[in-house]
This record gives sequence, C-alpha cells and structure tokens, in this order.
Amino acid sequence: MTFFDKAQALLARRDPLTVWLVAFLAGGLIAGIVTGYFRARKIQPNGFRWRIFRHEMLFAILNLAVSGFLLGGLSKLLQREGLITFNHAAASPWIVAGEFALYFFGFDTYFYWLHRLMHIEPIYTLVHKIHHRSIATNPLTTLSVSPLESLINGGFVPLFTAMMTVHVSTMALITPCNIVMGFYVHSGFEFLPRWWNKTWLTKWFITATFHDQHHRFFKGNYGGYTTVWDWICGTMRPSFAADFEKVTSRPLQPLVPQR
Ligand SMILES: [Zn+2]
Repeated sequence: MTFFDKAQALLARRDPLTVWLVAFLAGGLIAGIVTGYFRARKIQPNGFRWRIFRHEMLFAILNLAVSGFLLGGLSKLLQREGLITFNHAAASPWIVAGEFALYFFGFDTYFYWLHRLMHIEPIYTLVHKIHHRSIATNPLTTLSVSPLESLINGGFVPLFTAMMTVHVSTMALITPCNIVMGFYVHSGFEFLPRWWNKTWLTKWFITATFHDQHHRFFKGNYGGYTTVWDWICGTMRPSFAADFEKVTSRPLQPLVPQR
C-alpha cells in the first residue's frame, strides 16, 4: 500500500478527526500560499497582537456555541411550524438572481442601520464593543462578536426566509456569500485589484480595506455588502479611495523567489 492509497483509505472512512485534520492542513496550506503571494497587501502590516487574538479565539468559540445553537434552533423551529418553507422546484437563473438580489440589498440595508444603531451608547457597550476590540482584523475577527450581536446579524436569514419562500438554489448562494464576505472583509489583506474602486460596476461593493478602516478608525464605513448607504448618508471615510489606491498599488510577491 502506497502512502497515497493509505491517505485515500483514511479519507474514505470520513471520521470527524480525519476530516478536521485534512481541513486544518489544507487551510494552512492555502493560507500560506495566499499570505505569501499577497504579503505586501497586508492592510495593517504591524497590527497583529497576541492578546487580542486570544480574546478573539475565546469569543469565537463562545459565539459559535451559543448563537449556533440558538440560530440553528430558531430556524428549525420556524421550519417545523411551517413559517419558513423552501421551494424545492427547479428555478430559472433569473428568478434565482432576483431572489438573491433581494437578499443581498435587504441584508445590506438591515446591516447598515442596525450597525449604526450599535455605535450609539449604551447599545455599543452591550452589543458591539467585543467586535471592536480588534483594531487590525484577521479572519477570526469575523466570529469574535458578542452572542447578542451574532443573533442580531445572523437573524436576518431566518427573518428573510420567513417573509418570503425562496428556492433552494438561492439558499445555495446566500449561505456561501454570507460566509465568504464575512471572512474576506476581516481577512486583513486586500485581494482585489486597483481598478475595483474606479469602475462604476464594482466600486459599490465593499472591500476588505473599507471594513478594515471601520475597525481602525472606529467611525465611518458602516456598510456590510455595499458602500451605497455610506455614500447616501455621508458616512464614507473621506480618505478611503486614496487609501485603497495605496494598498492596491503595492506589488504582489512572487511565490518562488526570483534570482
Ligand atoms: Zn462597528
């Protein structure tokens, strides 16, 4: 039996420990490659603090346990009572795109206004303060929120699906979008190209640099998916465009050292 056969046999058993180990190693490999290639694109190069990372780890675990349990339970309860139903029929791409757009701009609006409310005392201390311990973000910051805030933000999907029956194909877009956006805006790296903030089609979608500035400066850039509400309400940081230009002008690093 070769090493490859052994590894395949181990994976075929699919016991949770092996799955987690493989996910951990694959995640580490991908993170290594990405941070190597994008190392010049670290938004706050000297921002990492172990003390804050420990705090983020603690709240990430607490939050996953509490809000995972509560939100999962709430969704299951609403489904059992028939208040949340999904359309399992095949849907045209236009219908799926329409439903997804309603979710996308619905969540963007919900997040912006609740986020602004969370910046007002005493709501700030009660709900949002834990998330703002992170001045320079990393992927773990995504999960480092108080369970109360997690319930408020995570409550949108159960609310949305209770108000409107969406197709399962739309849900297959909503869930990954939610996860990917959360981790991207807190990644601490800018992966997007320089032209992103210059074209009319793309400049309305938020970037990691945009949300990083919200953490770094505390005021401004409140949007979750788009910059539209910040633009309408005049809460966009004035230096954002220039700062995005600066970060994205740094050259990407070759993965193999050049001679
Ligand atoms: Zn905030």
